[in-house]
Amino acid sequence: MNQSQTKKDSAAPSSPIPPASTHHTWNGLSTISPFSHRSFERVSHIIFDADDTLWDDQGKLQDAERRMEDLFDRHLGRPSEFQRKFIQIEHRNIPVIGYGFHSYLFSLAQAIFEHSDLATAQESALHIVKELISDFLHQPPRVFQGARETLAELRGRGYSLAVATRGIPGEQLEKVRRSGLEGFFERVFVVPKKEPDTYRNVARELRVTPTACCMVGNSLRSDIKPALEAGFCAIHIPEPTAWSHDLCSPVISEDSIALAAIPNLLAVFQNKNT
Ligand SMILES: [Mg+2]
Repeated sequence: MNQSQTKKDSAAPSSPIPPASTHHTWNGLSTISPFSHRSFERVSHIIFDADDTLWDDQGKLQDAERRMEDLFDRHLGRPSEFQRKFIQIEHRNIPVIGYGFHSYLFSLAQAIFEHSDLATAQESALHIVKELISDFLHQPPRVFQGARETLAELRGRGYSLAVATRGIPGEQLEKVRRSGLEGFFERVFVVPKKEPDTYRNVARELRVTPTACCMVGNSLRSDIKPALEAGFCAIHIPEPTAWSHDLCSPVISEDSIALAAIPNLLAVFQNKNT
């Protein structure tokens, strides 16, 4: 495992934290299975995905893609389907060049250059790329509202916290550092892909059994399914702007639930297993 140590001041849910219960819905979201306390009572280590779980990533990227689509639509005088074409290119490229911002930009440039007859639109589109690069280089991640306070409270309740994020180590570690959340985590694991073995290795590195671990993430495909398969329990916190690459069928498991937002974790993890 490639490992390194060390998602809105936006869309922030401000609803009060509900009491832990066995109801199948919370804050209007259906849980993905009948909620059982048993799995969560065993937890001593909570492992967080980073992008679109702790801070917003997809929101700003998809916004840039939509602005480009508008540009090309206007210049063509008909729907350019820019975003759909970009997503196809990105899906083709990821198995070859992997995840991360450089991979995203590579695919974006390819999609822009497909419109070789629209030089003026290309120039404007590249201006949007320039903004994305500047944001990436200089701006801290937009940490979701309530994330910092929730991490602090979970630490205060005795839980060990870690991050397991997919991507390029330097890039992801820099985001964690700039987010200001680094100090809450015992470890930060940057992995090239998220498979059941990835999560087994995370538990081994943390020196705990998988059943003492809970994975928290926005992606059913890469955070929830493989973590459950490794023996973790899991909490899905869907982000408002899902990445098409990460879409997958629903998960049915007694060891997983869905929550509306990070602060709702405080209703689940009230006392660390001792
Ligand atoms: Mg994510």
